[in-house]
Amino acid sequence: MKYECVACGYIYDPELGDPDGGVEPGTTFADIPEDWVCPLCGVGKDMFEPVK
Ligand SMILES: [Zn+2]
Repeated sequence: MKYECVACGYIYDPELGDPDGGVEPGTTFADIPEDWVCPLCGVGKDMFEPVK
């Protein structure tokens, strides 16, 4: 499932991960480390919501 940053609209796609942020492709949002932040605006995971 994809997650969207409610602050800036960035979409986290588990198929792509966030290699620049140390998250490998194939990582589900739930498995991302709690200290990960949005690569665009820097907010934490609690600012993300599932994309339907
Ligand atoms: Zn963001």
